[in-house]
Amino acid sequence: MRRPLMAANWKMHKAAGETRAFFEKFKPLVERADHCDIVIAPPFTSLAAAAEAARGSNISLAAQDMHWEKKGAFTGEVAPGMIRDAGCEYVIVGHSERRNFFYETDDSVSRKLAAALDAGLTPIVCVGEKLEEREAGATELVLTRQFFGAFSALTASQFSRIILAYEPVWAIGTGRTATPQMAADAHRLLRKLSDERFGTEVAHNLRILYGGSVKPDNIKGLMAQTEIDGGLVGGASLDPDSFAAIVNF
Ligand code: PEP
Repeated sequence: MRRPLMAANWKMHKAAGETRAFFEKFKPLVERADHCDIVIAPPFTSLAAAAEAARGSNISLAAQDMHWEKKGAFTGEVAPGMIRDAGCEYVIVGHSERRNFFYETDDSVSRKLAAALDAGLTPIVCVGEKLEEREAGATELVLTRQFFGAFSALTASQFSRIILAYEPVWAIGTGRTATPQMAADAHRLLRKLSDERFGTEVAHNLRILYGGSVKPDNIKGLMAQTEIDGGLVGGASLDPDSFAAIVNF
């Protein structure tokens, strides 16, 4: 049985004060939620406030991105050790907004992944097709390319430490959700690729989250699919009641 995980991706929302206010409301709403892992990814500048507010709770923190080098002349970047030091256990890698707006490639995703694992972080790696790719019948091709682009350099033991997130780009922030069936089909493909590359046990234990307009009113239907192990939630994670309703699906 895979343990569900609900992750909040706050993107470029919530300064430190708003972060503290969120945690104050959110913590009591999920304090009994021992059925799943809860992860919140605030912007870098709010990590210190989040770490302070989450101390002693059942909520873990993620960074939304990182660089693969340990240190150096990389203006504007943040190193894996720095985000660990700021209180993160997880890091999101390869989010479609990084891929599409900031030219993240499969190669940089793969470097970040290796560096995150090296630093003892758990990477949440995002893959997903664009609308035109789905409409052209290329979903399987795109997911397969992203899968091998990100993971082919990993050993089975390294791969067993990652979390995958299937996020169809056309469903992110659009209010259009993949049907539970569509999501489950994509998850099945990703698990099959994991099985072929890393073996049955590793594939069976791999947690695959769905992301793309997850809301309190669709999370139950999604989680009813045995293939779906949790959610990566953007817009609906900004409100404590709404994200708590998702956690407590
Ligand atoms: C995301 O940011 O990964 C996401 C899925 O956003 P939203 O829930 O707003 O679609």
